[in-house]
Amino acid sequence: MNNLLNKIKSNNYTKNDLIEALSLNSDEAVSLFSLSDKIRKDYCGEKVQIRGLLEISNICARNCNYCGVRANNDLVQRYKMPIEEIYSIALDMDKKGVKTLVMQGGESKTYNPFDLADLIREIKSNTDMAVTLSLGEHSFETYKLWKEAGANRYLLRHETANKEHYKYLHPDGVLDTRLECLRNLKKLGYQTGVGCMVGSPGQKTEYLAEDLEFIRDFKPEMVGIGPYVMHEHTPFKGEPNGDVFLTLKMLALVRIITKTALMPATTALATIGNEGYKKGLSVGCDVIMINFTPQKYKILYEIYPGKKCISENTDTILSTIKDLIISCNRQVSIDQGHARNIIKNQK
Ligand code: SAH
Repeated sequence: MNNLLNKIKSNNYTKNDLIEALSLNSDEAVSLFSLSDKIRKDYCGEKVQIRGLLEISNICARNCNYCGVRANNDLVQRYKMPIEEIYSIALDMDKKGVKTLVMQGGESKTYNPFDLADLIREIKSNTDMAVTLSLGEHSFETYKLWKEAGANRYLLRHETANKEHYKYLHPDGVLDTRLECLRNLKKLGYQTGVGCMVGSPGQKTEYLAEDLEFIRDFKPEMVGIGPYVMHEHTPFKGEPNGDVFLTLKMLALVRIITKTALMPATTALATIGNEGYKKGLSVGCDVIMINFTPQKYKILYEIYPGKKCISENTDTILSTIKDLIISCNRQVSIDQGHARNIIKNQK
């Protein structure tokens, strides 16, 4: 056991070692979790970053088989938040001390890229916020436009590092294109986020090991990992949800392998895991995203059902999350919480 964890910690492991670690039982996983928590302490400290999430549009051109807002789901009422509304919520978040705005949405040409660039520029010049985008696959030129407008980070989960599995999840997508987008984002200087779901249909433990190898090699600044949550109105209707314990082992391994990556205790984990945020924070996570999407849109951004939502009132959510962080003996960060590359691998 200790030998296995030492190998992983010192970057001297095989794919089989990763599979073995992902297969630990709950007694054995205690040492995995305490190692990942120790590495989090040593390399990342006690601060937990709060990010403000805005789900700006559920209009999507893609047909990801797991996602509730996939293009072919006719039951979804589609929306696009007006630019002015996004801007005014951003100002509000900034005032409340939330120093990162994450704009997420379906992948489409709903917004003119130049309009979004203008919005990013406005936010960057009138607030003290970092801007993160999570809007799917776009051309190098579009990513460049948004980067030059001031965007700091981009979240684009790779979803699975296995080609066949990728095709199974995304009938209209190709893994190589996704990876090309990720390389472009890095080239452009974005702090880049990858990630995957745990327990997505068709997934084998071996594929999760491949995800970990991909994460090791790509060296992302951020990694988002949550359990798959079944949505009735998708081709994956009836498939079981991902396993919370396996998700925690995956998060712990990401912490041990990357040392410094920013890693959220995801909403999906909080949704199906009892005390999911706390569990995530205890195995190496150091970020929590708070949903600032107005209620009328939030209910329509149903990528999976039952999304954890503590309250409709963002002040209440903020104070609940802050209390939760403090109850875990951690600190609420008040800065923008940029990537830690500078100190990467120094310890
Ligand atoms: N259109 C953007 C944002 C997608 S939503 C993009 O393509 O990147 C953000 C993430 O939610 C996805 O990357 C996916 O990993 C996750 N997700 C989508 N449907 C889900 C489901 N049913 N259960 C759990 N996570 C899901």
